[in-house]
Order: sequence, then structure tokens, then C-alpha cells
Amino acid sequence: MVTDPAVTDVDDRNDRVAVKIVAAMDRLARGRRSHRQAIASHHGLTPLQLDLLTTLADGPPPEPLVGRLARELGVSQPTITDSLGALEHKELVTRDRDDADRRRTAVALTAVGSDLVDRLRAAERELVHRVGALHHSDQEAILEGLLTLIARHVDAGHIAVARTCMTCHFHQPTPTGGHRCTLLELDLPPADLRVNCPEHEPAHAATDTSA
Ligand code: SF4
Repeated sequence: MVTDPAVTDVDDRNDRVAVKIVAAMDRLARGRRSHRQAIASHHGLTPLQLDLLTTLADGPPPEPLVGRLARELGVSQPTITDSLGALEHKELVTRDRDDADRRRTAVALTAVGSDLVDRLRAAERELVHRVGALHHSDQEAILEGLLTLIARHVDAGHIAVARTCMTCHFHQPTPTGGHRCTLLELDLPPADLRVNCPEHEPAHAATDTSA
């Protein structure tokens, strides 16, 4: 078989760009991790405890149950239970057993916990400002590209939970390459694509037995 050199060149160039994008994502992830680590340490928290507090503040979804929180954050239930114990000890969350099902424990932020999340958000606003300084069309292209990548990671089984438009049962590509939500009966320009939609239903439903 004779290989078309023009096609090989395009493939090589695409591969080189893809490698650079993955390297750039790694660099951003490392920077973000160390920024979050610094914020968490400043407040005497681990990064997982910080994630738990912000996840509880943003939800539901997920339901504030130990199993759901573990699945959301991609860690084991015992790890979440340990972190919640530490947060409870600091009076940032409460844990209550469900009277109807003693295996289920509902978690809630205390007023002190909510106040701390507000301060954490203020510390993270700097990053939002930096992204907000990009041109609007760049922001839209990045959002659309990232949501497409998340959908591919979900398909590959590398991300367990994503309530994004491109992973949703109600998402429909339009003939012009755009997006439509068949539940809300709305066309979705890139800026309106959702990252954490309460109406989301997984396109490929997985069995969730966590509680
Ligand atoms: S239900 Fe939500 S996540 Fe699903 S397509 Fe509509 S807006 Fe997007």
C-alpha cells in the first residue's frame, strides 16, 4: 500500500499539536493543584476537604450522601468518611444517619462551613478573572473544546461523573455543528453550554449503586 505523504504530514502535525495541548493541560492542572493546595493549607484543610466543602456548597447534585460524594470526587467511601470526620471535628459539616435507612448518612454544611466556602471562592476569583480577560470567542472555543474532551474521557471511562451538555441524553448536535437541548427545547450557543446542569441525564446511563 502506498501512503499519501500529504496525509502523513497532516497526521504528524495533528499529533504534535495534540501532544502540546496535553502538555499544556498538565501544566495548568499542576498550577491549579498547587494554588488549591496553598488555599487549603492556609485554612488548615487538605485539598480533598476543600473539594468536599465546595461540592456540598454547589450541590445538589450530587445528593449530599457519602457514597454520592465519593463517586463525585473519584475517591473511595472510607477516604470520604475520614475527610468528613475531620470536617465535622472542625464544625464545618454535620452528618446525620437516615432514620429510614441507617446505611445512608446525609451531610450538610454548617453556617461556619458556608462562611468558609465564601472565603475560598473569593480566593479562587483571581483565576476566573484571568480566564475572563481572554477574548470572548477564545473563551467560547475553550469551553466547547474542554466539554468535548470531557465527553471523550467519560466515553473512555476515565471520568465517572460529568453533568455536561455533551455527555447528556438531551444533547443533540445541529446540522450546522451547533448544539441543541431537546429537554429545554433550546439551541445552545457555546457560551450557554452547561458544565454542571441539574437537569442532566447521562447519555450512556451507568448503574449507580452509591448512597
Ligand atoms: S438537560 Fe442540561 S446538560 Fe442536558 S443538554 Fe439540556 S442543558 Fe445540557
